Amino acid sequence: MKSRTKAVVIGGGIAGCSTLYHLTQEGWTDVVLVERNELTSGTTWHSAAQVTNFGMNQTMVGLKTHSINLYKELAGDPEYPINYHHGDGGIRLANTEAQLQGYRHFTSMARGMDVEFEVIDAEECARRHPLISTDNLIGGLWDPMDGDIDPAQLCQALARRARKAGAEVYRNTPVTGLTQHKDDTWTVHTEHGDIDCDVVVNAGGYRVNEVGAMMGVHHPVASMEHQYFLTEEIPAIKEAGHRMPLLRCPISDYYCRQEKNGLLVGFYEQDCKTWGMDGIDPNFVNALCPDDLDRVTDVLEGAFERMPALMETGIHTVVNGPITYTIDGAPLVGPIPGKRNAFCIIGLRAGLGEGGGHGWLLAQQIVHGEACYDTWCIDPRRFTGHTNVELTALKAIEDYQNEFRFHFPHEHRPAGRPAKTTPLTPILAAEGAEFTVVNGWERVDYIKPAPDFHHTRDFHFDATFDVVAAEVRNVQENVGLCEVNGFNRFEITGADRHQFLDRMFCGNVTKREGRVGLGYLLNDHGMVKGEATIANLPASDRGPERAWYGSAAASEYHDMDWLTAHIAADEDVQIKSLTNDQTILVLAGPKSRDVLQAVSRADWSKEAFPWLSVRECFIGFAPATVMGVSFSGELAYEIHIPNASLYAAYLALREAGKAHGLQLFGARAVDAMRMEKGFMHWKADLITEFTPLETGLDRFVKLDKGDFIGKAALVAQSAAGLRKKLVTLKINATHAPAYGGASLMQDDKVVGTITSGDWGHRVGMNLAYAFVDPALSEVGSEIQLDHLGELVSVQVIAPSPYDPTFALMRS
Ligand SMILES: Cc1cc2nc3c(=O)[nH]c(=O)nc-3n(C[C@H](O)[C@H](O)[C@H](O)COP(=O)(O)OP(=O)(O)OC[C@H]3O[C@@H](n4cnc5c(N)ncnc54)[C@H](O)[C@@H]3O)c2cc1C
Repeated sequence: MKSRTKAVVIGGGIAGCSTLYHLTQEGWTDVVLVERNELTSGTTWHSAAQVTNFGMNQTMVGLKTHSINLYKELAGDPEYPINYHHGDGGIRLANTEAQLQGYRHFTSMARGMDVEFEVIDAEECARRHPLISTDNLIGGLWDPMDGDIDPAQLCQALARRARKAGAEVYRNTPVTGLTQHKDDTWTVHTEHGDIDCDVVVNAGGYRVNEVGAMMGVHHPVASMEHQYFLTEEIPAIKEAGHRMPLLRCPISDYYCRQEKNGLLVGFYEQDCKTWGMDGIDPNFVNALCPDDLDRVTDVLEGAFERMPALMETGIHTVVNGPITYTIDGAPLVGPIPGKRNAFCIIGLRAGLGEGGGHGWLLAQQIVHGEACYDTWCIDPRRFTGHTNVELTALKAIEDYQNEFRFHFPHEHRPAGRPAKTTPLTPILAAEGAEFTVVNGWERVDYIKPAPDFHHTRDFHFDATFDVVAAEVRNVQENVGLCEVNGFNRFEITGADRHQFLDRMFCGNVTKREGRVGLGYLLNDHGMVKGEATIANLPASDRGPERAWYGSAAASEYHDMDWLTAHIAADEDVQIKSLTNDQTILVLAGPKSRDVLQAVSRADWSKEAFPWLSVRECFIGFAPATVMGVSFSGELAYEIHIPNASLYAAYLALREAGKAHGLQLFGARAVDAMRMEKGFMHWKADLITEFTPLETGLDRFVKLDKGDFIGKAALVAQSAAGLRKKLVTLKINATHAPAYGGASLMQDDKVVGTITSGDWGHRVGMNLAYAFVDPALSEVGSEIQLDHLGELVSVQVIAPSPYDPTFALMRS
């Protein structure tokens, strides 16, 4: 066994084998995989091993396409061929129009990744899958590349190729401990000796938290028992003359694929069961949980009705095994928050289908610092401190119960809520607030016009349209108040903070005391990594001279790791998170100054406190830090208040607001208004696939300043030209907004991708942002949008259609 290597991957299931193989492909060949037993002896060996191309965003579709292409190549390797049925096709069933709308959107989105799904009607479903009835069925989504693979052969093939490239695999070698050294390298302790390495990867499957505990980390991953059975031979399958397509059923919560001349049918029962919550027997190896078909009778009935042939067929094997779920259903693939040189590829609930792609994207992150796609949807840092074991289990159960039911726009499911609240949450609930969830925080989405008001679950504009319009109108004409909790806030102190920040941002962010600036952080490849405001506060009785760094609600761990990793050894810079200590009350609208002036003794005139100013003050008697910034495009103030005095500040503002028509508004109104102003959302419009030049942020880039992260790549791109360009679009449709991922088409070719969309109530336009081919980025260009299955015309318009000179914000 080696005593030193570059990377140690812990776990020899699909996650570990794929990571090991892809590390060698990305250029790291001195790498090792350690497995406590035999390869695939965790969950992988008994997987149903379906390999779908379906995903709900482009990153997921892209990584699954990578799996499929890789598996095809492995299957065709004459030296070590493996069994892979690809191209059987698969159908996701639907019995509601809303589900079909979703499938149409996913089809549009996948088209941008060169994947052609097809929405078919019930008769066509039955024609392609002769065993199913069309009762209570209106159609489905056809995935032509659906199939299944032999999981053990797949892992052996990946390990074999990795070994050929120089990697080593140590079987029957349990990892017993992990030690990190001062220089951020690791020692992996195993039963057969220690291995020193630069990087460790946790690919421990359902033992993820045993490995996590070795580095003092708890991962939000829980295991569920999951069952399928295999039937005896079904004559109709033999007679069909072709393999049966796969089925996934959100109506009755099961899946089904052909196995020999019978079927494999798996279940997602409501009466489901967590597994291993209080520890896992060390001898649970190559093992299964006891059969428990009684638990799945509810689902079985639905499956029998859809496929009557099942009723006449015997069951010959039942498989019940642990499967991992995370707190939001998507896996955790990337850097482990708060750790250096530590990565994970865990919480895979569809690891055979996705594993090839996840290992690929993880290896890219390890070797190059970033993957070819934006990986936020699988990034382990997308949750912060609230993700404890109990909450994770509740969300895992809910997710399991809804396995094939995708989330509709604005849908936030009830389990584990409320996870994060402020003193205002119950107050706002009593005011009629409907809440959305942002990284666990309950944030006001809109104020319901009546207690029994409900929005519909589909992709069209619904009754909330008028509710949001009214909130926007009041902000535009009077003044609105909105709580923005969970916003990320770091306090940066130390004599070298300005030079440090200068290196982190691609533009000149203000260093002046009492002033606020907006800037962008790039990665080493010149791509947009983050967006933050910097507010420079003078020394006061609340602290020394300091900068407040403010960024998106879920970015705390992501930004903290990025910033702290770049503080030079000799730099005097300290960063402290205030994210959970303070909350923002946004006061927005032409009368916001009057309200502020009524509750705070400072001079809030335009002259004394112009746009982009920051000041410590009191709201009534509540200590506050106020910034003159606006996301709505109206005159507005961000009032940052310690949570302990939030209610006091709220009462003062509400009281003062009475004379000025103050009303509450929520996140939906904010989102609609920011679209009219050309303001972007991190991880929707601002992603690591594009540079700030491509994202239309040229005015925030200063190539003539000193060195900053990503500068060389940006200089190179300035010379080479842009690949895409972010534009604002007017959509010629009034029934539905454009959704992120949807494809823009010209002459049957995909020429762009929507990043976000919403109705602009003040300009009366259906607006969207999209990355398009540069040739189409001129104002006036006409393109078509594949909009929920229909082609509608869209037009490139100038950004910020509402108040393009930004006069209102500065007023
Ligand atoms: C019944 C069932 C059906 C499924 N069907 C599908 C399907 O159709 N399609 C699909 O894509 N997915 C399916 N899945 C899910 C899929 O099987 C898993 O996502 C995948 O196998 C997980 O792989 P893994 O490598 O993360 O974990 P595992 O396969 O569990 O591998 C983890 C490895 O880490 C090792 N390990 C743990 N601790 C240590 C340690 N301390 N030292 C060294 N090694 C350690 C373990 O021994 C194990 O071999 C199914 C799962 C189940 C249970």
